[in-house]
Amino acid sequence: MRELQLGDIIDDYCVKCRRITNHAIVSLLDGQAAKVRCRTCYSDHDFRNEIAPPTKRELMKQKELFNAVLNGMTPGTVPAEPADAEEPKAKGKAAS
Ligand SMILES: [Zn+2]
Repeated sequence: MRELQLGDIIDDYCVKCRRITNHAIVSLLDGQAAKVRCRTCYSDHDFRNEIAPPTKRELMKQKELFNAVLNGMTPGTVPAEPADAEEPKAKGKAAS
């Protein structure tokens, strides 16, 4: 198995470019990339194993689906742009 070294170019997901790009390793931890620098926009960030974080839109969609199930509605009948004011606030249960 080849050891990673500082400056090695590896693929990772860049949140700024919003896609998998080439990254140079700028920090190593236990032989694994800890921090990388995007070769496209030169921003540093933690190495994330090429995994894209869920976007706000995806999180919203999950929430919509969740609420739709709670309300006994089928997904798709949910209005395209739900009003934020309709969010239940008095429930006291923070989504984790
Ligand atoms: Zn980038």
